[in-house]
This record gives sequence, structure tokens and C-alpha cells, in this order.
Amino acid sequence: MPRASDAPLQLGRRVVVYGGGNTAVDVARTAKRLGAEPVIVYRRSRSQMPAHDFEIDEALEEGIVVNWLRTITESDQQGFKIEKMALDENGWPQPTGEFETIEADSLVLALGQNVDQSILTNLPGVTLNRDGVVEVGADMATAFAGVFAGGDMVPAERTVTVAVGHGKKAARNIDAYLRGETYRPPPKSDLADFETLNTWYYTDAEQKLQPVLDAARRRSTFEEVHTGLDADSALFEARRCLSCGNCFECDNCYGICPDNAITKLGVGKRFEFKYDYCKGCGMCAAECPCGAIAMTPEAT
Ligand SMILES: Cc1cc2nc3c(=O)[nH]c(=O)nc-3n(C[C@H](O)[C@H](O)[C@H](O)COP(=O)(O)OP(=O)(O)OC[C@H]3O[C@@H](n4cnc5c(N)ncnc54)[C@H](O)[C@@H]3O)c2cc1C
Repeated sequence: MPRASDAPLQLGRRVVVYGGGNTAVDVARTAKRLGAEPVIVYRRSRSQMPAHDFEIDEALEEGIVVNWLRTITESDQQGFKIEKMALDENGWPQPTGEFETIEADSLVLALGQNVDQSILTNLPGVTLNRDGVVEVGADMATAFAGVFAGGDMVPAERTVTVAVGHGKKAARNIDAYLRGETYRPPPKSDLADFETLNTWYYTDAEQKLQPVLDAARRRSTFEEVHTGLDADSALFEARRCLSCGNCFECDNCYGICPDNAITKLGVGKRFEFKYDYCKGCGMCAAECPCGAIAMTPEAT
């Protein structure tokens, strides 16, 4: 991989990044990898920064300077005039009249993200809330029939996990819509409590330490900082999951049933319980590790 600093640098050498969120930290860390000397300027204190604390730590390790309680008041050819701020009794930053300068040739405003609404202009009925994102129902449908939305475009936490979840949910509803049906999610199993779990069944799969790229190397490459788990380690860690109330086809019930009353239906299809053969001994429920089997009195 070529050194990041060999890449064409559009930013200039001394870059001021204004903001305190993850985007500001990402911009500064990217600028560092492109060979610049970034300085983050943020109006409030470190504890008020919306960026994740561990990401701020990593940025500092990489040599990024953060000026907390500062705001930019002026700029000229040489750089920026910065005013120190102080928090008032309500935690809001207030100007102090004390100034300093930062020599820099570029400024990146990393102050927020907005949805490009132009795609929505010809869709009558589609409503945007006051944050400028699209209102959708529980089925991810907008008010314009056949148009669905999710992810950063709708009111929700703006994370990849949420966006992926919305995509899955929207896909199911779009499929049903195209068939002229309404998607009905399958019923969820009751959550099993501790009493109904057989915790002895599970492996003590301790959390593994994930390798982290050394700070010195991080300054010049875009390689992953946290290399994550390989497939084997991820599968090992998954053994900690108690699958509370959800059958994961361990076959305990199938193996222990003295009356051959349980039939395996195949991978992902779980089991059929043949009540004509079942004598109600309850061994399947007792041996189920995840509390997915409940014994109920027979109707008279
Ligand atoms: C700097 C930064 C750092 C982040 N860090 C994290 C993080 O660490 N962890 C985390 O969980 N989340 C993080 N996020 C948030 C995360 O990236 C988003 O929540 C997520 O990507 C949203 O997914 P999405 O599919 O809704 O939108 P996007 O990922 O933005 O995808 C929308 C796509 O639509 C395309 N598009 C837009 N308009 C049109 C059009 N008119 N026609 C065709 N295509 C179009 C865009 O080009 C884009 O490819 C970060 C965001 C930013 C900006």
C-alpha cells in the first residue's frame, strides 16, 4: 500500500477542523493520514464533545491537536483568530474576550449532516419533519404510495446498524407491497428468564482483545485501526449468546424425548412436536438450554 502522504493533498498543510462530532474527528484523522497537521477547534469542553470518547483518544494518540472551548471569530491569509470560551453555570459556552491565533491554510466545517431533499420535491404528500428528514410509518413507507425510506433519511439514530436494519425492514414491506399484501412480522417468542435457562449448556467464551494498529503506523496509512475478529473468533464469542427463548436447534429435545414425539424439520425449520405420542414427561422443556419450550396443561 502506498504511504497515505504520497496521495495528492488538496487540503493544505495546516488544517483547522471546526466541530466536535465524529465527523470532525474523522476529518482530522483523515487529514493527518494525508500528511496535514490538523487542529480541531470545538466550542465546548471535551466531556461535551458528541464524538465517541475512544475516538478522541485515538485522534490524540495520532498527534491531532484538539482546542476545546474555542471558537473561530476571524480568518485571513495567515490563519484564524480564535476566541476562548468559558462554560456558564448552565454548561453553555460563553465568549471571554481572550483571543489567540492559529496559523493555517484550510478550514473544514464539520458541523452536521443534512439530507439532500431534491429527490423528494415531486412526491406529493411526503412530509419532512423539522430536522429535515422524511416521516415514515412502522412499515418504512412514506406518504407517497410505493416510496419507502430509511437510514439517515428518516428520524432515527444515524448509525450503520440502524440503517441496515431499516433496509431489511423496508425490503420486507416493499416485497409485500409489490404483491399487493401487507407484511406481518412473525410472532416473537417470549423472552426466557434466568430460571428457565440451562446456563451449564453454554461455553464460557471470554471476550477477546481485538488487535489495534499502532498509533505511529496509523498516522500514515488508511488501514483499519481495529482489525476486528476473524471468523473463528467471532463464532467462538457468539457462544456466549444465551438465545433467550429462541430455539437454536441444539437437538437436546430431539435427543432426550423417550417417546419419539419430536421430529426434526431440517436446518432453520426447527422441530415438530407430535402430541399424540407425547406423554407430557417434560424432559424436553427441562433440557432445553434456552427456555424455548413451555409445558402447558392439556385442554380437557
Ligand atoms: C464522517 C462520518 C462518520 C461516521 N461514522 C460512523 C460510525 O463510526 N459508525 C456508525 O454506525 N455510523 C457512522 N456514521 C453514520 C453512517 O455513515 C450513516 O448512518 C449510514 O451510512 C446511513 O446509511 P444510509 O444508507 O441511510 O445513507 P448513506 O450511507 O449516506 O447512503 C446513501 C447513498 O445514496 C446515494 N444518493 C444520495 N442521493 C442520491 C440520488 N439522488 N440518487 C442516487 N443515489 C443517491 C449516496 O451517494 C449514498 O451512496 C458516520 C457518518 C459520517 C458522515
